[in-house]
Amino acid sequence: MRLILLGPPGAGKGTQAKRLEERYGVVQIATGDMLRAEVKSGSAIGLEAKAIMERGELVPDSILIGMLAARVQAPDVQKGFILDGFPRTVPQAQALDGMLAEKALPLDQVIELKVDDAALVERIAGRFTCAKCGEGYHDRFKAPKTPGTCDVCGGTEFTRRADDRAETVAARLEAYHRQTAPLLPHYAAQGKLQQVDGMAEMDEVTRQLAALLDRKPF
Ligand code: AMP
Repeated sequence: MRLILLGPPGAGKGTQAKRLEERYGVVQIATGDMLRAEVKSGSAIGLEAKAIMERGELVPDSILIGMLAARVQAPDVQKGFILDGFPRTVPQAQALDGMLAEKALPLDQVIELKVDDAALVERIAGRFTCAKCGEGYHDRFKAPKTPGTCDVCGGTEFTRRADDRAETVAARLEAYHRQTAPLLPHYAAQGKLQQVDGMAEMDEVTRQLAALLDRKPF
């Protein structure tokens, strides 16, 4: 399976990608996570990306295309992947088309998670993650069963992303509409674009995604 999940920040791409990863045994490639790891390690890419990410803007295409090209060479990716957060611009999509054509690894599907902007701010502003195992939570929609303790690993430290502050979210949504939304016609023209109602309850979104993915043998 080679799948792209498209949609604005907070649409649920990461949450759903993790569920599909388990269900179909393919890897999630989340460029936001890769960039956050670069920032944490203090690498040259991380130093360049940090301030851009904190402003809610997009990191230059050249950096992202290079990162993705390296990642799709890895052996774990040959079985399939779910792209989450890439491509985010038309040049990134064109570069990806070229990389996959070169390896004769065509994309199977591109699925857009459709969510209203008004819902996104609330979704993003309330989210946090277990610092130990990475399980995602939300103040309103998915609080840990025992307050302050991770349901999965028992960890007691949690982190919130620096770019999830309300003032940055507006810039991220603007970047989505201006730079990423043009990918919808790009993939529609290839006959690969489908849509799922990202406003539905989390399990229902997974069910709708699986229904689309199960229609096609990989
Ligand atoms: P995400 O975790 O996908 O919301 O990404 C967090 C931030 O990382 C974005 O707001 C961008 O600054 C940067 N980023 C992640 N993926 C990309 C990409 N494909 N192109 C440019 N910037 C990206």
